Amino acid sequence: MTICPDNRSGGLDGRLPHLALTFRRPLNPTLPHMSAIPDLSTAVGHTPLLRLRQASALTGCEILGKAEFLNPGGSIKDRTALGLIVDAEKRGLLRPGGTIVEGTAGNTGIGLALIGASRGYRAVIFMPDTQSREKIDALRVAGAEVRLVPAVPFKDPRHYVHLARAYGESLNEAAPGSAWFGNQFDNTANRDWHEATTAAEIWEQTSGRVDGFVCSAGTGGTLAGVGRALKSRKPAVQIALSDPAGSALANYINHGELVAEGSSISEGIGSSRVTANFQDAPIDLAWSIPDQESVPLLHELLREEGWCVGGSSGVNLAGAIRLAKALGPGHTIVTVLSDAGTRYQAKLFNPAFLREKGIPVPGWLDRAFPS
Ligand code: PMP
Repeated sequence: MTICPDNRSGGLDGRLPHLALTFRRPLNPTLPHMSAIPDLSTAVGHTPLLRLRQASALTGCEILGKAEFLNPGGSIKDRTALGLIVDAEKRGLLRPGGTIVEGTAGNTGIGLALIGASRGYRAVIFMPDTQSREKIDALRVAGAEVRLVPAVPFKDPRHYVHLARAYGESLNEAAPGSAWFGNQFDNTANRDWHEATTAAEIWEQTSGRVDGFVCSAGTGGTLAGVGRALKSRKPAVQIALSDPAGSALANYINHGELVAEGSSISEGIGSSRVTANFQDAPIDLAWSIPDQESVPLLHELLREEGWCVGGSSGVNLAGAIRLAKALGPGHTIVTVLSDAGTRYQAKLFNPAFLREKGIPVPGWLDRAFPS
């Protein structure tokens, strides 16, 4: 078994003999004698599971992070993009040379554009203009046509999801069958792909010894898919939502009402509505996590363990620590490191920006970027 206890060593970890923290990609059937993969889609998923040393020491649990930032497009949303595309191809909704249209906070769009490039589709992406410059640039580099639109509530017809759907419909009116709207929030092929891949990997990598899974929700595909699959294999497993401030989902789970308070600098997570993907997520516990709790955790993770992850991963890590405290020492908790911190460089590692938001700035960051 290949175990990867931290980012300094790929060797065996005698302390965790039951955990396979790395994961082997399937071999290319056309080149069975070589461990080469045939295309970008095959490189999606099969991510290592990282033991998070400080969080584990703090709680007496094994806290493990699925390294989704290692996907080819840099985020967990490569899985969603691939799941949606494969489903649309099967249904005949996405035809050779077709146009993919999607509304996204960025990461799903990056996945769709790159997988689209490798499979012969072009991508038109609608996204709110509040998202990070780095994600917008990554989308353009990936070859997507990017339409930035004002961030408005979902009930407003100018919301990016409605604009994407309408644009897809207009392309199909002009040339029937030429475009496909991914609809990641309400297309449950998203959740199903996580059920079949992300959850199956977690189960295998922990040899089934997982006691809790926790993450935040944007579409809800990850939480619902992994939650459903783990519960079906092991009903006692605890599934938890770590929700950023400003999202209504934690309150919805705890009190049945979609009420939001505060705000967060995290991107791609939180919601004011219950999506089709989120709807049947089997959630036992839910917390609203302030940035003042999550951002220092991701700063420490980078400084002490070398993993550079984004804001949603900080919210997930905070949730993992809360879940570990709720379950008590000796449990194995899995969470998701969804994308890389470099995708938010100008916010997460910018002392002036952090101060303006009332988020603590570690001394090393101040020294790295003196004002
Ligand atoms: N983290 C990041 C960085 C994301 O981009 C997203 C999705 N927008 C999520 C987490 C949430 O994942 P899901 O859509 O599966 O709920």
